[in-house]
Amino acid sequence: MPATMSEVDTLLTKKVANRYLKRELLGEGTYGVVYKAIDTKTGQTVAIKKIRLGKYKEGVNFTALREIKLLKELKDPNIIELIDAFPHKGNLHLVFEFMESDLEAVIRDRNIVLSPADIKSYMQMTLKGLAHCHKKWVLHRDMKPNNLLLGSDGQLKLADFGLARIFGSPDRKFTHQVFARWYRAPELLFGTKQYGSGVDVWAAACIFAELLLRRPFLQGSSDIDQLGKIFAAFGTPKPFQWPDMIYLPDYVEYQFVPASPLCSLFPVASDDTLDLLSKMFTYDPKARISVQQALEHRYFSSLPAPTKPALLPRPARKGESRPSEFNPLDGPIVLSPPRKTRRVMVQHRGLDGNIFQTDKVDDHANEATDRISGRSETMPMSIDLSVFGLRTPPRPTLNSADRTHLKRKLDLEFPSS
Ligand code: ADP
Repeated sequence: MPATMSEVDTLLTKKVANRYLKRELLGEGTYGVVYKAIDTKTGQTVAIKKIRLGKYKEGVNFTALREIKLLKELKDPNIIELIDAFPHKGNLHLVFEFMESDLEAVIRDRNIVLSPADIKSYMQMTLKGLAHCHKKWVLHRDMKPNNLLLGSDGQLKLADFGLARIFGSPDRKFTHQVFARWYRAPELLFGTKQYGSGVDVWAAACIFAELLLRRPFLQGSSDIDQLGKIFAAFGTPKPFQWPDMIYLPDYVEYQFVPASPLCSLFPVASDDTLDLLSKMFTYDPKARISVQQALEHRYFSSLPAPTKPALLPRPARKGESRPSEFNPLDGPIVLSPPRKTRRVMVQHRGLDGNIFQTDKVDDHANEATDRISGRSETMPMSIDLSVFGLRTPPRPTLNSADRTHLKRKLDLEFPSS
């Protein structure tokens, strides 16, 4: 066994260099950068997410490690595989299977026509992945189209599962987190501290709507505006629809707006589609359909049958761009949440200005809202495990001296010295 931390570091460096050959940067996300790499042990192409630990005040802690280990054990065809996890130079590296594209790329690619059968297939894969995790008491908490990755065989896999819970809520000053608001359930927007799998169902419903409309459905510019958009679409909830609403920490009374008929919001959707959507968009989380029930809904058993994954339309591969996708003359359509890399590198100047302007307005509106509500930027996303009948474990801080323990927790092998 290595005797000192510097020896540990050296061995870990070797281990990284020996096993994973780093390739190009794939992008920057909520928790850090993502690299493409080759796993020399298996020959597999992987994506390594490097999570900066320094920025988390508490540091990585034992609870986080226990939960990462749990994620490693979550195996399902519709969940991205966490192949490995290891600390290296003050960062935590999470190694995932490499995925070619994501659902956001499909939605925004205007060369792609999505048939009802294609949409059904994407939704079925999304819900199957979610169902597996909910069965294991893991919530996603950050469902959005660019967290639904697509493999070369057309399989959709949920990514970033549980990371929001492990590493805390992402800082909402980042644009992509501002956009993530569009998928947030009303109970979260009203500041609930106790929530369950219903938050993922609401987000999945927003993704369902986005597949039908080919644009994000409810695009709020602040938490208050987001609730306003939700109520404008589905009507202000009446007490009988959601009895607990008025007791939520950030509850404010909204002016009454009647519901629009769902078929006016989704004119081309079938009756089965509308029925499932309305059950997923139920206000009261206790009355909202579960993921398993949604999978058993007649929408999935009625015709057309879901398209086989291998036959689904494929978006342009990462790095490729089709000229028609980014034509500024196309007018002010609102795109799905742009990725941070795209935002900082290109779109500031290049596009129609629409995205950039929205970002600025959002950030300010958000800050203003948070000041009004007195809400901390990271607050409403914390979960209370007691809803699952579990006690929240203590979260002692892990410092660098604990790395040997960390290594053991993650079942890592050290190369013998
Ligand atoms: P975010 O936190 O905004 O969801 P991520 O950290 O998940 O972003 O991802 C950042 C970038 O890395 C994105 O371009 C994403 O598509 C890419 N990426 C993430 N995971 C993988 C993967 N397993 N395979 C290929 N690309 C990935």
